[in-house]
Amino acid sequence: MENAAISQKIDITRNSPLVQARQVCQTYDKGASGSLVVLENVDLQLYPNEIVGLLGRSGSGKSTLLRAIAGLIRPSKGDITFNGRPVVGPNSDVAVVFQSFALFPWLTVLQNVELGLEAQGVASSERRKRALAAIDLIGLDGFESAYPKELSGGMRQRVGLARALVVRPKVLLMDEPFSALDVLTAETLRTDLLDLWCEGRMPIESVLMVTHNIEEAVLMCDRILIFGSNPGRVIAEMKVDLPQPGNRLDPAFRTLVEDI
Ligand code: ADP
Ligand code: MG
Repeated sequence: MENAAISQKIDITRNSPLVQARQVCQTYDKGASGSLVVLENVDLQLYPNEIVGLLGRSGSGKSTLLRAIAGLIRPSKGDITFNGRPVVGPNSDVAVVFQSFALFPWLTVLQNVELGLEAQGVASSERRKRALAAIDLIGLDGFESAYPKELSGGMRQRVGLARALVVRPKVLLMDEPFSALDVLTAETLRTDLLDLWCEGRMPIESVLMVTHNIEEAVLMCDRILIFGSNPGRVIAEMKVDLPQPGNRLDPAFRTLVEDI
């Protein structure tokens, strides 16, 4: 009986996308030089328990699409839903990690991470507890009182990740999260994130990751969307069949963990 309930739950989550973008278009007004069509009829689905890569050239509109999914901009046309509900503004279901970390230099690690919860009106003692747990999870234990300038690039991006995860989003959007890091630092952070994901310790359901690095996409993702340029749109999709970390996570395991 219990097993039937679990498999039913898994079937449902597999069939309905968490994020759905339909026919999304974005045009930027360029003043005297007219307008620039950046996205044209972009369709995209993000399902639970997957890491999806968005692979495309610089300037093809990947960050624009991510911002639209996060509710930071409203697309000129088309619609984006989260769990079937229209995305109309920033919301705690979807968190973003930026390439440039986007930390406040005058705040400590702990304060930067707690900030993610302030907008949600979480009480200060609870904020602290959750921020410390996120900092610990992401491997920054002991650096709570440090300022961003005292940290390496890799550690700063860990702060960016902790700040995103602390709100317990369902979906994590990462915009070229490793491209400002040196090769070895990027490799360490990628491995650490995949370990957390495979162990079911990332408090999220799915990841959409923008990258222009094909090796990184193959290593990290279950599915890769190839993004064409001028204008930006999804032109191909590739399923990664290697038994690599992203698709090793058994959804039944996650369901069991959630039910505990
Ligand atoms: P990518 O992330 O793939 O490099 P972006 O989404 O950042 O691409 O940018 C796509 C195009 O849209 C670029 O030509 C960029 O200059 C332009 N663009 C991005 N944001 C704006 C904006 N707020 N106003 C005007 N043009 C923009
Ligand atoms: Mg970009």
